Amino acid sequence: MIKLIKNAELYSPEYLGKKDILIAGNKIIEVSDRINFDIKEGATLEIIDASGKLVTPGFIDSHVHIMGGGGEGGFKTRTPEISLSDITSAGITTIVGCLGTDGISRDPLSLLAKARSLEEEGISTFIYTGSYRLPLRTITKDLMTDIIAIDKVIGAGEVAISDHRSSQPNSDELKRLAADARVAGMLSGKAGVVNVHLGDSDDMLNPIIQVLKDTDIPAKQFIPTHINRNQKLFAQGREYAKNGGYIDFTTSSDPSFWEGENAETRGSKALKICLDENVPIEKITFSSDGQGSLPLFNEKNELIGLCLGSVKSLYEEVIDAVVNHSVPFEKALMTITSNPASALKLKNKGRVSVGQDADLCIISKETFLIDTVIAMGRTMVEAQEIIVYGTFENKK
Ligand code: ZN
Repeated sequence: MIKLIKNAELYSPEYLGKKDILIAGNKIIEVSDRINFDIKEGATLEIIDASGKLVTPGFIDSHVHIMGGGGEGGFKTRTPEISLSDITSAGITTIVGCLGTDGISRDPLSLLAKARSLEEEGISTFIYTGSYRLPLRTITKDLMTDIIAIDKVIGAGEVAISDHRSSQPNSDELKRLAADARVAGMLSGKAGVVNVHLGDSDDMLNPIIQVLKDTDIPAKQFIPTHINRNQKLFAQGREYAKNGGYIDFTTSSDPSFWEGENAETRGSKALKICLDENVPIEKITFSSDGQGSLPLFNEKNELIGLCLGSVKSLYEEVIDAVVNHSVPFEKALMTITSNPASALKLKNKGRVSVGQDADLCIISKETFLIDTVIAMGRTMVEAQEIIVYGTFENKK
């Protein structure tokens, strides 16, 4: 199947102006000012007119509880698995799954199976092996073997630090974890990163900073997430990124979290503050924490409320940054396309250029609404309607 997208205003994510894009199968095979394509007999050519629309890479959501998470308020607060159309209707074509607080009744093998099911349904998936708490739960009983032997495993995570729910890992444990993930990544041509959950404890990023001080492990091996969850951590995170580390902002939130002295800073505003302070944009990623529980604890760390994270928040925060904080679209877009692709070494993802996977969003220029989503060359959403559903989804 060949698709020709005509007259697009292309954000690759850099702004490249008016372009035509040619897709053959699941790859982008040409991007140029004007493509006139003669089709050979027997092949089918679909022409998509993108006049007045923006075309971007399909979005990458690098931290999603695809098989559910939560459970902090007992079994009934376990959150549900994600469905294909939840993902595609949010413009997301690549997703990285992880376990959450509960790495006992949920395990990395089931996570791998869920990732494979989503890929069979049409999107691209990867996972972090391991668990919130140490010792890590793995698939093969060894972190390095998981990364080297299993195609979908790109690193370890989410591993919790500086949180009352963590296993309170010490510095030696973190060093060993990062060293193993790094070498397994080297041996398999993957990122071998550790995705680190940051909680609200006063320790903040200090355990990671200690590892970087004590060893020659580079900062790029860590992807610390939830950096925008409170003011102190956000301030430390900005300094950490200026010194070369990655920082990931969580976009799922609840407006009640944005109030108070040590409040969360929503992703859009956090991005704006970072750009104003010259934090390098390449070091900043967004992830949704979708399907995770958003637990609210009081000052005694007792659970007082719970809601469900949504992958829709990923693009919503990008647009909020553009519309309400005047962040240029191409800059905001980097946080969910080229930045996660390079941090996680996803070589064929996060850009619109020749040889890349055919993952694209076509977006209204006026409203920024997602009109069409193409994943691996297949149209999943068209004219804002979901046209491909997951196996057991109720078609609307
Ligand atoms: Zn987390």
